[in-house]
Amino acid sequence: MGEKKIKVGLLFPPEKADKPVVTNLVKYNLSFNILKAYISPGKTGTMMMELKGQGEDLDRSLAYLEKEGIQVKVYTDSVIHDEEKCINCGACTAVCPSGALVMNKETWELEFDMDACLLCGHCVRACPARAIKSFDDAVL
Ligand code: SF4
Ligand code: SF4
Repeated sequence: MGEKKIKVGLLFPPEKADKPVVTNLVKYNLSFNILKAYISPGKTGTMMMELKGQGEDLDRSLAYLEKEGIQVKVYTDSVIHDEEKCINCGACTAVCPSGALVMNKETWELEFDMDACLLCGHCVRACPARAIKSFDDAVL
């Protein structure tokens, strides 16, 4: 099985907020990159991160997080971008810093590349059709 890269949102209950749960992910031979985190001791916390590793190790690590009482949401294109609501206006492409949102020049439809996305949330605020879900909402 080859190496995979996924983006996930995690919701930590207050009692887990200051525990070294995330650092334990190295035990699953994963590399990870924290993109955003709101963690305070004694409060519910959220974290968005990119995980890279073999598919089986990724599955085991997500099972570990859930066993620790952490809610996990794996982000996919359809979790974030609602094609039904999108009117292909292109407004989001102007604010995207990573090139994750581009207009296809032949079909003039929006294309979303989850791999390139930094989960910054600028597109959520720019979209007049509410076709991009807030990443925080998508976590939970
Ligand atoms: S969250 Fe940021 S990087 Fe991701 S698609 Fe939206 S604007 Fe681009
Ligand atoms: S701003 Fe919203 S409606 Fe416009 S292209 Fe982007 S996702 Fe679609």
